[in-house]
Order: sequence, then structure tokens, then C-alpha cells
Amino acid sequence: MSRRRLAVAALAIAAVAVVASATAAPPTERGPIAAAMWPKPAQLDGTVATYAGRGGIAAAMRPESAQRRGDPPRASGRVALREARRLTALGPRPAGSRAERRAHARVKRAFGRAGLRVAVQPFAVPGHGRSRNVIGTLDAPRRDCLKIAMAHIDTTAPGPGANDNASGVGVVVAIAARLRRIAPRCDVWLVATGAEERIFTGQGDHLGALALARRARARGAKRRLRFALSLDEVGRDRPFWLRSPAAAPRPRVERALLRAGRATGVGVSWVRDEGDSMSDHREFELLGLPAAKLGVGAGGEPCRHLACDTADRLDRRSLAQAQRLAEHALR
Ligand SMILES: [Zn+2]
Repeated sequence: MSRRRLAVAALAIAAVAVVASATAAPPTERGPIAAAMWPKPAQLDGTVATYAGRGGIAAAMRPESAQRRGDPPRASGRVALREARRLTALGPRPAGSRAERRAHARVKRAFGRAGLRVAVQPFAVPGHGRSRNVIGTLDAPRRDCLKIAMAHIDTTAPGPGANDNASGVGVVVAIAARLRRIAPRCDVWLVATGAEERIFTGQGDHLGALALARRARARGAKRRLRFALSLDEVGRDRPFWLRSPAAAPRPRVERALLRAGRATGVGVSWVRDEGDSMSDHREFELLGLPAAKLGVGAGGEPCRHLACDTADRLDRRSLAQAQRLAEHALR
């Protein structure tokens, strides 16, 4: 190799190293804006190709976005919005309260109407009585894999919890009605969890998620769970953030979910949880089960746990996008 060629090769290696280190940089520095300004890592590893333009990887991935025969029409978000509004109208739904129980009863009826096998998993909330998870199951022909989409139904007073988290439950209920037509290849559990709000329960764990993760583990999740996705605050503020405590996006977890976003045209970036994970995905990860949260993006939720978290702030398009991404990931 000539000296000139050697120099070119060295430069190329250095460039790859720079891109690789950018990819490995703390994710807090790599939000959607950084990704948009610096598309090279996305093109290299294909994880954030939403921002990689129309050619290249996006074109290569196109077949994935094709509608399958028998697929339901694209989710409009109307059902999710209607359900989220009705849940919000129940008012604050703290863990163990009557309002939380009523909200769960609504979801239970909706899962039943959708033809899912419905289970109620009760658990104690110390000092606040009992809460529960409502689980709707659809068994797939293929029993060696399982996917979970969950959303917490409880709130912290005084907030009526429209975005946190009637939005996520609204999406889960809307998915339920379409799940058979989506024809997932893996078993699916749709879940409205209880007692997520630790600021109310005073517990270190999200209690509903802990009970659910243990149930999943007892049913072979170590072997067959692809992901448990917590939908939490999906009613406004996009692009979404996909959050998890993983050191880097995992092929069948974060990458699969980002691919679903790309295939459905939903803007989403992975951001690593800093410190403790703040939603129901936490307890799965603590048991060694793969999980992530889809939720509010860089703008945050200024009305979290406050009286201003009202239904008029919900954006139907945001709910539709969360639903499309989740449905694609579940199929
Ligand atoms: Zn929440």
C-alpha cells in the first residue's frame, strides 16, 4: 500500500471511530435534535433511520412498511381519544380507590368485547387496600414468543390524569378492538396496570408492574418475552422518546420498536433512562426481562400529576401515532 493510500485508510478508520464514539455517547446528548443534525450514526447502525432521509436504509426497509393483507385500516386515534376522555372523566384514580376500580372495570369490559381472554390479577397496596392488573390475552399460533403492551390506569391526585395516563390506556383499549385483525405472530398480553404512581403509593416499586412481571416470568417470559412496552404519556408532544435502561439498543427490543416507528412514519428516538426507570418497564428489567417505555418526548409533561392534566390537551394524532407504532411492533 502506498503512503498516500495508507493515509487515506487511516483517515477512514479515524472517521469510523468518530462516528462509533458518537453512537456510544450518552444518549442524553443524542436526543432527536442531535440525531437530526448528525444523521451519520443513524445511517450506520440503522436504529434511528427516521432521520436518515428517503434513500439508503429507509428504502431498504420499505417492504416492512407494506400493509399486509387483512390488516385493519390505519389507526385514526378516535377510539383511543374517546376512551382516554372517558377515563379522564372519572377524575383522579389513585391506587386502591373506587375510581381506579371503575376505570379497570371499563377496560375489562372492552377486552371482553374484543374477544380477548381476560384475567384480573389482584394485589395489595400497603395502606391503600387493593389494586389489580387487567390483562387481555390473545394466543397466537406460535407459542414460543410473547409481547406485552401495558399502560398504568392510576393517577396521583389532584390530577385527572389525561396524558398521565388515560392516554396510554386509551391506546391499549383501541388496540384490543383490532388485535384479532392484526393477527400477531406471538402471544400478546394487553394490560391496564394499577398502582404505578410511586409518589402516591410510597413504594419503591411500581406495584402493578411488579406483579405482572412476576406473572410473566412464571409463564416462561425468560425464554419467550420479546418486550414489554409501557405506553405512558402518549397523548401529546412528539416526536416520542423510547426509554429503557439498556446500555445500547437491543435488536429485538429497542431496535424492533424503532423499526416499527420508521415503518409507520412515527418519529421516535431512543433515550437511555438515567438513574431509575420511571414507568412500568422498570420492574421487568429488574427481573431480567426486556422492556421499554414509549412516552413524552423532549418537551416533557408540565402538567404531570397536576390538575391541569386535562382531556382537552390530548391530541388525537399523537394517540394515533402511538397506536400505529405499537400495533406494528405487536404483529
Ligand atoms: Zn405515568
